Amino acid sequence: MTFAVHGLAVARGIAIGRAVLVASSRVDVVHYFIEPGQVAAEIVRVRNGRNAVVDELQRLQAEMPHDAPPELAALLDVHLMLLQDEALVSGVKHWITDRLYNAEWALTTQLEIIARQFDEMEDEYLRERKADLEQVVERILRYMKGVASPVAPPPSSPRRKGTQDLLLDDKVDVPLVLVAHDLSPADMLQFKQSVFAGFVTDVGGKTSHTAIVARSMDIPAVVGARAASQLVRQDDWVIIDGDAGVMIVDPSPIILAEYGFRQRQGSLERERLSRLRHTPAVTLDGETVELLANIEQPADAAAAVRAGAVGVGLFRSEFMFMGRNGHLPDEEAQYQAYREAVEGMQGLPVTLRTIDVGADKPLDKGHKDSHLNPALGLRAIRWSLADPAMFRTQLRAVLRAAVHGPVRLLFPMLAHVGEIRQTLAQVDMARAELQARGAAFGPVQLGAMIEIPAAALIVRSFLKYFDFLSIGTNDLIQYTLAIDRADEAVAHLYDPLHPAVLGLVADVISEGQAQGKSVCVCGETAGDVAMTRLLLGLGLRSFSMHPAQILAVKQEVLRADTRKLAAWAQEVMASEDPAALLSAG
Ligand code: PEP
Ligand code: MG
Repeated sequence: MTFAVHGLAVARGIAIGRAVLVASSRVDVVHYFIEPGQVAAEIVRVRNGRNAVVDELQRLQAEMPHDAPPELAALLDVHLMLLQDEALVSGVKHWITDRLYNAEWALTTQLEIIARQFDEMEDEYLRERKADLEQVVERILRYMKGVASPVAPPPSSPRRKGTQDLLLDDKVDVPLVLVAHDLSPADMLQFKQSVFAGFVTDVGGKTSHTAIVARSMDIPAVVGARAASQLVRQDDWVIIDGDAGVMIVDPSPIILAEYGFRQRQGSLERERLSRLRHTPAVTLDGETVELLANIEQPADAAAAVRAGAVGVGLFRSEFMFMGRNGHLPDEEAQYQAYREAVEGMQGLPVTLRTIDVGADKPLDKGHKDSHLNPALGLRAIRWSLADPAMFRTQLRAVLRAAVHGPVRLLFPMLAHVGEIRQTLAQVDMARAELQARGAAFGPVQLGAMIEIPAAALIVRSFLKYFDFLSIGTNDLIQYTLAIDRADEAVAHLYDPLHPAVLGLVADVISEGQAQGKSVCVCGETAGDVAMTRLLLGLGLRSFSMHPAQILAVKQEVLRADTRKLAAWAQEVMASEDPAALLSAG
């Protein structure tokens, strides 16, 4: 039966395909596709994990003191029985062999399926055994986590071969749509080059980092869809409408035909926009506008160039540091990565932002920040300044990469002048260290993110120290309005048009202009075509966004007349209902 699940529209377009469920687990689980040659090794890994847990439980049973409560022994029996359960064993084998899921993914997928069967049981005692099953699987996962995987991480090249292996139908290349309770940014990166045609997650806000990575992949996505992962079953046919933020499950033929039509319209529109690639972004009244790309990995530089970006306005370097069990890449590895990005941009500038971990970007996926309020905690520049040696490793790598092309160095989450001074002192020290070593390094422009209201309010001090500024509207909105950007429960209050937000953005732009320094917006509003005219009207001439958005924003720029927009933008700012004016304007 057809039904729809509503969430937040985060990445545009229509995807139609079969659902692949990624079950949530309390244990940090990696998800990736294996090569067919690795199937046997993955099955052995699960078997070893299961055998180790059986041994452990049997040892516990043997060592049980005589006065232990009898329930404990019975519980161990139940766990041992569940471990031998054929449905668990054969199901896991199926996901590994037929779908090429890695062992951990196969285990959690099968757990989800059996857990749902338990949920449907009449008998309360049996229903409650679900928790036991979860514990047993978690034991296996923990054991497997302790044992290094013999399987290499997924290749970063597009896995067309994997797609063929995953065909659900022999003749038709059926697209796959990922449905999960939550996906960490690191998970998303792993899936970045993979086969999925779209994403849906239960949790997340429009500017959560999972949503941001989905957008950078340029595939339709919906987040904050509440119970989506509970309502959909493996292999269900689903439609993702990334424009409306809706997932339609088990669509009827008529609905399928309608969305198929809209999908084709979308590709025609993209094709039409692609003709603007080489057109300079100049407004009707002759103002040149800089359209830059946001990237997460060095390899993304190619997409940025393809999309006609005139540089990288934001390289979120933290994505390179994720999912490495807390071991950061050394200076040489970082240098090679930054150099790849710089060379990939073929002489166009690259803005490298220093590591911005914390809040919804933990270093290790699955690791939950135990602090009371991680978004206000030791994150971004605070984290870097707390470990100066680690920070300087990154700075030295960036300075060395600057030998290969123009580099701008950008610092996230600065609020205090004291932090600015400390940061700049670290840059000086990094230079001195390279000099002492006789290593070559290049010139860099220095810039600050303006993403904390305090920074926007003392923007003059920032301009004294920095060559350029970049407004991070994602965080600026979060902190100005006290709305967690990743929390779907308050997503309706996350408002880029709030007069307080617009006021801060406008002031930073005009102060920058007054002092002849470049100001960019690199938050998600820069790539939102509904905001382009307003930002132009506020004087913005530099926008940084996902490569996939550049051409649509360029189209808005080409149609704009900034002389008219300036007066209109003031009206929008002064209005109590800016959204109404924006849609009317
Ligand atoms: C921002 O806050 O707007 C920004 C660009 O940085 P991030 O989304 O990585 O926090
Ligand atoms: Mg930010």
